[in-house]
Amino acid sequence: MSTPLTANTLTDRPVFQGKLLIDGQWSDAADGSTLERKSPAHDQLVAVYAQAGVADAERAIAAARKAFDHGTWPRMKGAERARILRRVADLILERKHALAEMETLENGKPLAQALAEIEGSADLWQYAATLARNLHGDSYNTLGENTLGVVLRDPIGVVSVITPWNFPFLIVSQKLPFALAAGCTAVVKPAEVTSGTTVMLGQILLDAGVPAGAVNILVGRGSVVGDVMVTHPDVDMLSFTGSTAVGKAAVAKSAATLKKVSMELGGKNPQIIFADCDWDAAVDAAVYGIYFNAGQCCNSGSRILVQESIAKDFSAAVIERSRHVKVGDPLISGVQVGAITTEKQMETILHHVAAAQSAGANVALGGARIQGRGMFIEPTVVTGVTSGMAIAREEVFGPVLAVLTFKDLDEAVALANSTLYGLSAAVWSQDFSTCMTAARRIKAGTIWVNTFLEGHAELPFGGYRESGIGRELGRFATEDYTETKTLQMHLGARTDWYVPR
Ligand code: NAD
Repeated sequence: MSTPLTANTLTDRPVFQGKLLIDGQWSDAADGSTLERKSPAHDQLVAVYAQAGVADAERAIAAARKAFDHGTWPRMKGAERARILRRVADLILERKHALAEMETLENGKPLAQALAEIEGSADLWQYAATLARNLHGDSYNTLGENTLGVVLRDPIGVVSVITPWNFPFLIVSQKLPFALAAGCTAVVKPAEVTSGTTVMLGQILLDAGVPAGAVNILVGRGSVVGDVMVTHPDVDMLSFTGSTAVGKAAVAKSAATLKKVSMELGGKNPQIIFADCDWDAAVDAAVYGIYFNAGQCCNSGSRILVQESIAKDFSAAVIERSRHVKVGDPLISGVQVGAITTEKQMETILHHVAAAQSAGANVALGGARIQGRGMFIEPTVVTGVTSGMAIAREEVFGPVLAVLTFKDLDEAVALANSTLYGLSAAVWSQDFSTCMTAARRIKAGTIWVNTFLEGHAELPFGGYRESGIGRELGRFATEDYTETKTLQMHLGARTDWYVPR
C-alpha cells in the first residue's frame, strides 16, 4: 500500500487523470474537452477529466444498447453475474484507501468517514450479488386444467444512472450493482465535481470481468450529458439521485419516451424529541444528524422538533455540544466535519441563514464561513423557528440545524408532515406507544426510532411525496430494474372461437 495521504503530503500527490469509459475502452472526449477539480478543503487541483459532450453520451448509450441487445451480460446465469459482482466488492475493499482519499479530496469529507462510505459500498455490491441469484418470477397453477400462467422478470434494458456529489461512491453503489444483478446494462454519470471514485470504479469493473459496454462512465455536465441520458430513446430507465428541482425536470423530460424512473431526491427530515427521551442519546443524535457530512445529506436531521417542556434546556445542550464539534482539514485525524463541497452550495447555505434571520429566527450559534483556506462553515443552530419559515421547509444541505417546538404528539406529527418532503424522520421517546404512534403517522420512507442515520442493505430506502419515486436497497431492489412479462400457456386441444353454422 502507498503512504497514506496527509495534509503534509498532499502537494506531492499526482493529479488524477480520468477518462471516459465507453464500450470497454478509456477515451478522451470527442471534442477534446477537459474538466478540472480542486479540493474544496485545500483549494488544490486534484483531478483532470475528459469532459463528455453530446457525441460521447450518444456513443456510450449505443455501447450499452449493443451490450444489452447482443452482449453476454443479460444472457449470463445469475450465478455468474453474482460471482463478478462479488469480485467487484473484493476489489473495492482492496483499493479502499485510494478510493477514500479521492472521495475526501473531491467532496471534502473527513477521511475516516470516506473510508466507512467505501466499505459500506462494498457491502452493497456483496448484497446485490446475493440478489442476482434470487431474482425470480411467479407461477399460477390455479387457472384451470388447460392453462398454466408464468410471470417472468426480464431485465428492463439500458439504465441511465445519474448521481450527486454528497456520497458519490455510496450512491452509485445503491444503484449500479442492483441494475447489473438484474441483467441490465448502464451509462453512469457522476456529479461533475466528484467524478473520481466513479471513474476508479470503472477500472474495478473491467478488472472484475464486467464485459465491454455493460457499464459506460461519462464525466460531464448535467445540462449536457445528463440531458442526453434522460431523453434518449434507447435508454429504458432513469435512476436518478439529486435535488428535487433537477429530478422533477428530468422526470418531465424523460416522459417524452415514457422511461421508467427511480428518483431519490431531497429531504427536510425531522427528529422529534419528546420530553421522556434518553437525553444524552437524543442530544448526541441531534448533533450528529445535522453535522455528519457537513449537513450535505439527503437524510440530514435538519429540523429538530422539541417538546416545549424541555425545549430551552435541550436546545442549550445541543448548542453546547455543537461548540465542540471539530471542523477542519478532512485529512487530519479526529476532524468530524470537513469542507462544503462547492462554492455554490456555500452561497446557498449562507443565504438560508440570512433569510432565517430576516424572517425573525435567532441564529443562536455559528452562521458564518470560517475564514482561511478551503470552504468551511461554522456549526450553526437556528432557534425560534416556526413552520412557515423557509428554514423549516426548504432543504439547506449544510450544517444548519433548525429548532422548532411542539406541545403534544398531534402537533409533532403535524409539524413533521408539514413540508413537501418525506424522506426520513426520527422519534426519540422511551415510551413504546409514543414511538409507534408517531412512526405510523409520519409520512416518510424511513423512520428511525431512538436512533438516527443508520442504513442496511436489507432495508429499502426512498421517499414519500417530493422526496422521490421508488425504493432502493432491500430484497426487491433488483426487481425495480425489470419488466414483468406474463406467459399464458394453453394445454390440450383448443376450443375454437369460430363455430361453423
Ligand atoms: P443536482 O440535482 O444538482 O445534481 C444531481 C445530478 O444530476 C448530477 O450528476 C448533475 O450533474 C445532474 N444533472 C444536473 N442537471 C441535469 C439535467 N438537466 N439533466 C440531467 N442530469 C442533470 O444535485 P446535487 O447538488 O448534486 O446533490 C444534492 C441533492 O441531492 C440534494 O437535494 C439532496 O437531498 C439530493 N440527494 C438525495 C438523496 C436520496 O437518496 N434521496 C441522496 C443524496 C442526495
